[in-house]
Amino acid sequence: MTTASRSSDNKPELADALVLYGASGDLAFKKIFPALQALVRAGRFDLPVLGVALSGWNLDQLRERVRDSLREHSAADDSAAVKLLERLRYIDGDYRDAATFQRLQAELGAAQRPLHYLAIPPSLFATTVDHIAALTSTPAARVVVEKPFGRDSASAQALNRDLRRVFDEPAICRIDHYLGKEAVQNLLFFRFANAFLEPIWNRNYVDHVQITMAEQFGVEGRGRFYEEVGAVRDVVQNHLLQVVANLAAEPPSGPSGEALRDEKVKVFAAIRPLDPPSIVRGQYRGYRDEAGVATDSRVETYAAMRLHIDSWRWAGVPFFIRAGKRLAVTATEVRVQFHRPPQEVFGALLARHANYVRFRLGSGEVTIAFGALAKQAGAAMLGEAVELDVCRVPDDETGAYERLIGDALQGDQTLFSREDSVEQAWRIVDPVVGMVAPLYLYDAAGWGPTEADRLTAGVGGWHAPV
Ligand code: NDP
Repeated sequence: MTTASRSSDNKPELADALVLYGASGDLAFKKIFPALQALVRAGRFDLPVLGVALSGWNLDQLRERVRDSLREHSAADDSAAVKLLERLRYIDGDYRDAATFQRLQAELGAAQRPLHYLAIPPSLFATTVDHIAALTSTPAARVVVEKPFGRDSASAQALNRDLRRVFDEPAICRIDHYLGKEAVQNLLFFRFANAFLEPIWNRNYVDHVQITMAEQFGVEGRGRFYEEVGAVRDVVQNHLLQVVANLAAEPPSGPSGEALRDEKVKVFAAIRPLDPPSIVRGQYRGYRDEAGVATDSRVETYAAMRLHIDSWRWAGVPFFIRAGKRLAVTATEVRVQFHRPPQEVFGALLARHANYVRFRLGSGEVTIAFGALAKQAGAAMLGEAVELDVCRVPDDETGAYERLIGDALQGDQTLFSREDSVEQAWRIVDPVVGMVAPLYLYDAAGWGPTEADRLTAGVGGWHAPV
């Protein structure tokens, strides 16, 4: 069992090597190598990178792959690229074979605190961790586990047990890259760095909350993968519930990451498990023709749901979530809508408008804006909807991986999901994952099945991202 190495002042010690399982994979290509280059550029990374994969490659082939990755997914920076390429090592082998780990042991040399990054199929997590247990450096090592963390409550608990046989909790970084996103961090910052929001951020003023994660694209060649997950497992159980937690958590008792993680778990614990009437599942027309998808697939590419948080702050405030592929736009947006004015001073038309706070969480832009009404210039008392921008900045997806890998190397767990948190999140969706019926077909380029409209009928319908 690890003890997650700590310095004499009880701070976690910086890792001294990065072992990247899945070095030939898609995630490494698109996200991890660009993030490592960015860390090198920032002067925050100067460690050996031991890539492991099954491809039958040699070091030159891995270097070529990394060059391609940086060319396609990173800002040009030759000096950072050269430094990263120099630090690469390659170990070819199967994670199910102990001999792979004997070669890894030799390559690790004198490293005492490696960070093991499991960017591999989830079916291989447990086997790989079992083999990592045999490495001499493992007592002070840490591990990063990619999503999905389990398929349901039972498998998430089993995976936690597998990990905890080898690593103690402070040594485990369960990654959900959403937590590293600038915009998701800004939700928390905006809430807890400003005093004016707190008096109105509760059931007395908030009417309801909507979270939409819309993707214009479909499964993009990842049909086989998507068949195993569906929308609820892919983005709701992890990303969107994390957004709910950031919106709904009580102020943490202090600046420690653990205090914040405590508050987020309390939010999950207060959310009622979903029941079938609270969810509408859809599938885009044409999904069954995608490569790797069963011709009679019942997997949802769209899910809309209503959550209830049984807490003093949020009792009676519905939180609506919808996520889908092949919708009208690509955008993720949160809208916290306040109650309407109590009287129609300026007529019914104006009274139908309600104030809101809108958070755009990426897809090109990070925005926080207040929705309000202002009088149009002129004699008549006519209003117009206006938005007051708090911030509007470009989004940077690679930045999330850079931040999370940097934190994992330093042993800062604030932005990683804790054992109890993932298990609570699964408890919420468990009754509806794997549901096969009902499933409504919908056309591409719209807003999903119209059946989902019944969920928000009582609050004036869904709001499309602006
Ligand atoms: P890929 O299938 O592209 O890559 C899998 C990697 O694992 C490859 O390097 C492959 O090596 C290696 N591998 C598979 N089986 C073995 C084995 N028995 N022994 C040794 N190596 C093996 O997967 P992704 O990169 O897409 O995904 C990796 C992880 O990241 C998954 O958990 C996924 O859910 C998660 N993730 C991926 C995202 C993405 O956008 N791709 C987004 C978020 C999370 P080889 O190629 O040599 O066979």
